[in-house]
Amino acid sequence: MAYQTVNPYTNEIEKKYDNSTDQEVEAALGSAHQLYLRWRSGAELDERKQIITKLGSLLRQNKTKYATIMTHDMGKLIGEAEGEVELCASFCDYYVKKADEFLAPRPLYTEAGSAYLLRQASGVLMAVEPWNFPFYQIARVFIPNFLVGNPMILKDASNCPTSAQAFADAVAQAGAPAGSLTNLFIDYDQVGKIIADPRVQGVCLTGSERGGQAVATEAAAHLKKNTMELGGNDAFLVLPDADIDKLEQVIFSARLYNAGQVCTSSKRFIVPDNLYDELLKRARKVFSSVKMGDPLDRSTTLAPMNSQRAKEKLQKQVDMAVAHGAKVYYGNKPVDDQEGQFFMPTILTDIDQDNPIFDQEMFGPVLSVYRYHELPEGIALANNSSYGLGSTVFGEDVAQARQVASQIEAGMTWINSGWASLPELPFGGVKHSGYGRELADLGFGEFINEHLVYEPLK
Ligand code: NAP
Repeated sequence: MAYQTVNPYTNEIEKKYDNSTDQEVEAALGSAHQLYLRWRSGAELDERKQIITKLGSLLRQNKTKYATIMTHDMGKLIGEAEGEVELCASFCDYYVKKADEFLAPRPLYTEAGSAYLLRQASGVLMAVEPWNFPFYQIARVFIPNFLVGNPMILKDASNCPTSAQAFADAVAQAGAPAGSLTNLFIDYDQVGKIIADPRVQGVCLTGSERGGQAVATEAAAHLKKNTMELGGNDAFLVLPDADIDKLEQVIFSARLYNAGQVCTSSKRFIVPDNLYDELLKRARKVFSSVKMGDPLDRSTTLAPMNSQRAKEKLQKQVDMAVAHGAKVYYGNKPVDDQEGQFFMPTILTDIDQDNPIFDQEMFGPVLSVYRYHELPEGIALANNSSYGLGSTVFGEDVAQARQVASQIEAGMTWINSGWASLPELPFGGVKHSGYGRELADLGFGEFINEHLVYEPLK
């Protein structure tokens, strides 16, 4: 496995990294475990809070520097990358403010005596993270778990090693002791060995269904608790009373943000008869007005995809969809005037439920638009997916939109908005989109030992 930064705008290999040795793995496990032993009863929480506060300041002070590193690694727009760094800093603020409350012992009521739950660290974690939000994905597991007292070993995607190392360096610069977060350039076998190690007590992965299945299997084989944040094929369910002008305003962020490479992008628009033709026109207007170009140029609005491999995979999926009857309403032409890994924003219609693309995630700037006649049919279409990550319900009657939201099989539903992520809102899915939650109090608690202390009445 080659860890390297290949700039998807220029296609140049900018940096290469040597793989970590087994000795480096052992050193990381050893130092992480020593920290866990030091922290497991709650010691040094104030020190850890100070370190996270400092991390937040470093992120803000060096926002453009870190954003530029991410843009070189995986091509995202510089402005979007800066927003990502700022969001990570907001996780620092939130969790520092909430740590005491979230870690406080919880009294339990029983008539049989006195009882309470201690909320303690559980041990070293193995985190496996993807490339699409190189800082955010690490931040949303590292920051809460560091405060809990769970040190972390990180295996990040092989195509964004510079970002992963920059995040780990920022953590060290903020004053975290060695072993708090160790970024390793390891192969899948080494990940398996780390998971098997008795010093490791938890595993968290964000990535594809395929990667999640492999890592969850290793975790299960060694009885390690794990959380899986996997892919999505999110429905954007338009209600018949939706305001099409308001809807047009969210199409870009819902589908084309991060070049469409967001787990919670609205990949399927499900539209009633009365708005179908107009929605297609508005989507074409949005898709045809993007400006592709250098992601470091602030006037660019559509970034290249993260890698040649990703672009080729997406093209194969679109070709397969079309071969099985889908129609191209807009796009699907080669982007000849750019060197980078650009994919022309594309809108597909007429995807039947027996088209193999129907139940696949397309991880790039491709929108599928479906039509429905009656609302129950639209809801059924939204739920007809092996995924269940996010979803949007869009309509003027908010009471109805909420009622519809409650019928969607998903971990998250946004009303009259594209996807969003905030520190105080739990993030995660159901079905093949995985299990467990990140962020908020739920994410904070995933790897806590809820330690019961009980004293029966004499
Ligand atoms: P991926 O191939 O599964 O890679 C994700 C991470 O898992 C990478 O670090 C990868 O390492 C590693 N990995 C893959 N197979 C592994 C194995 N057998 N053993 C150990 N590590 C393994 O995912 P991706 O395609 O790059 O990422 C995009 C996917 O992530 C999409 O499906 C997207 O929807 C999902 N995602 C989900 C969320 C969420 O919160 N639910 C958020 C963001 C993205 P290498 O790079 O070395 O292969």
